[in-house]
Amino acid sequence: MTKLSAIRNNHLSLTCWCGHHALVPIEAFIKAFGGDASVHQVVKQARCTWCQCKILARVQIVFVGKSDFAMRGADNTHIESGGIKTDKNRED
Ligand SMILES: [Zn+2]
Repeated sequence: MTKLSAIRNNHLSLTCWCGHHALVPIEAFIKAFGGDASVHQVVKQARCTWCQCKILARVQIVFVGKSDFAMRGADNTHIESGGIKTDKNRED
């Protein structure tokens, strides 16, 4: 289980069955539940502010800007002499 403290620079994307969607910073959940709480624990407690339903249709951890971990996963570009150069396989 993913602890909130391990993903504190990110957001949780919560989508309810009613269609309501919220993008909530992890820091907000850490303030409410503490850093040792897991994403699973938070999701079980989450309630839609639109319809008050506790059953969520979809939950995603969203990596936002300045997340070093997320940027490493997307490391397929190289910056050279002020420009952006893509992988050699993608050059024409
Ligand atoms: Zn709802």
